[in-house]
Amino acid sequence: MNNLLDAFHLTALPAAAEDFRAEVKHFLDGHLPPAPADVRARSWMGFDADFSRRLAARGWIGLTLPASYGGAGMDAFRRFVLVEELLAAGAPVAAHWIADRQSGPLILRYGTGAQKDFYLPRICAASAFFCIGMSEPDSGSDLASVRTRAVRCDGGWRLTGRKIWTTNAQHCQYMIALVRSSGVPEDRQKGLSQFIVDLSLPGVEVRPIVDLTGDAHFSEVTFDNVFLADDALIGDEGAGWQQVTAELAFERSGPERLYSSVVLLDCWRAQLRRHGASDADLALLGSFATQLATLRCLSIAVTARLAHGESPVVEAALVKDIGTEFEQAIPAQLEAAISADPAQTIDPELFRTVAYLSQISPTFSLRGGTREVLRGMIARGLGLR
Ligand SMILES: Cc1cc2nc3c(=O)[nH]c(=O)nc-3n(C[C@H](O)[C@H](O)[C@H](O)COP(=O)(O)OP(=O)(O)OC[C@H]3O[C@@H](n4cnc5c(N)ncnc54)[C@H](O)[C@@H]3O)c2cc1C
Repeated sequence: MNNLLDAFHLTALPAAAEDFRAEVKHFLDGHLPPAPADVRARSWMGFDADFSRRLAARGWIGLTLPASYGGAGMDAFRRFVLVEELLAAGAPVAAHWIADRQSGPLILRYGTGAQKDFYLPRICAASAFFCIGMSEPDSGSDLASVRTRAVRCDGGWRLTGRKIWTTNAQHCQYMIALVRSSGVPEDRQKGLSQFIVDLSLPGVEVRPIVDLTGDAHFSEVTFDNVFLADDALIGDEGAGWQQVTAELAFERSGPERLYSSVVLLDCWRAQLRRHGASDADLALLGSFATQLATLRCLSIAVTARLAHGESPVVEAALVKDIGTEFEQAIPAQLEAAISADPAQTIDPELFRTVAYLSQISPTFSLRGGTREVLRGMIARGLGLR
C-alpha cells in the first residue's frame, strides 16, 4: 500500500536522505519480525533488544554520532528518515530509543573524553540502553523542584531520592538523572546537575508500574545512599538545568510526536480498501492526510535547526503540542467512525488497535512535558508571558 503522504510534496528532504529511505525500507522488509497491528502500534513503546541489536549491526543506532565512536556520522535528515520509516512500520524500537535520541547526543556534547569513549560505542552497539531520570513523585511539570540529591563524599557522590514514570528503567543499564547537587529546592534551576547512574549499583531499586493497557513500560526508581564515582557527573556541576533544556529539544520535535497512531491509520485504510469507504470516511482520511503532511513540515523544519547545532526549544514544544493532539485525534475519531455504522464489517485487528490506542493515547500529551506546560513555553516564546 502507498504511503499516506505520497500525494504531498510540501517539504523536500535533502536527496541523500531520500535515497537512504530505500535502504531503510529494504532492511525492514528483511528484519522486522511480523506482528499484528495492535502490537506494531506500540512502536516506540515496544521493547525488543534483539531488534535493536540487528539495527546496531547494520550501523543505524547513533546514526548522527561520529564514526570514531561507532556512529554512522550521518546528518539529522537521514535520522529523520530512519525514524519515520521505523515508526511507520511499527518497529519495536524502545530498547535503544532514548540512548539514540538524546543520551548519546548529550554525552557527545557535554561528556568528558573518557565518558564518550566508554558510553558512545556501547550505545551504537545496542549494549547500553538509557532511561531519562527527570520526573519525581512531587516534580513532574515543575522539574526545577526536583528533590533527589547528590551529596559530595570522598571520591564521588552519594545519591538519595526517587524518580518516577521512568520509561524502561527496568530494562536499561543506565539513567541520566537530573538531581540537586547543591543548595535547597527553593534555589530552583540553580544547583542542579546531571549524573549517569549505573542502575546495577547497590542501593538502586527499580519497581515497574503497570499502566491502563496492562503493559509495564515505566518504573519507579529509588536511590538509597548510592555511591557514584566522580566520573558519573556529566557536564558541569550546577549546569544541569541548561543541559536538560537542550536535551528536551531533541526529545520533543521528532516524527515520534506525530506518528504514534500511524499504524492504526494504515490499518483503517486497509480496512476501507477491503470493505469500501463512505463519503464520511474519505473526508476523515483526507483531513488526517493534510494534517499529517503539514505537521511533518514543522517537524522537518525543527530537524533543520537541530542539524545547524541550534536548540529550538520553543519550536520543538510547538511541534509536540500540535503533533500529540493529532495523534490523539486519530483513535478518538476512528472509534467514532467505526461505531457510526454497527452493521459494517470490522476486522478484529482494527478493533484491537483502536482499543489499545484509545487507552494509551491520553499519555501522548503527558510524556515529554504536558500540553499546558508546553503552551506556557510557547506563550513565553511569543512574548505573551
Ligand atoms: C507514558 C509516559 C512516559 C513517561 N516517561 C518518563 C521518563 O522516561 N522519564 C521521566 O522523567 N518522566 C517520564 N514521564 C513523566 C512525564 O514527563 C510527567 O508525567 C509530566 O511531566 C507531568 O508531570 P506529573 O505527572 O508530575 O504531573 P503534574 O506536574 O502534577 O501535572 C498535573 C496536571 O497539572 C498541569 N499543570 C502542572 N503545572 C502547570 C502549570 N504551571 N500551568 C498549567 N498547568 C499545569 C499539567 O499540565 C497536568 O495536567 C512519563 C509520563 C508518561 C505518561
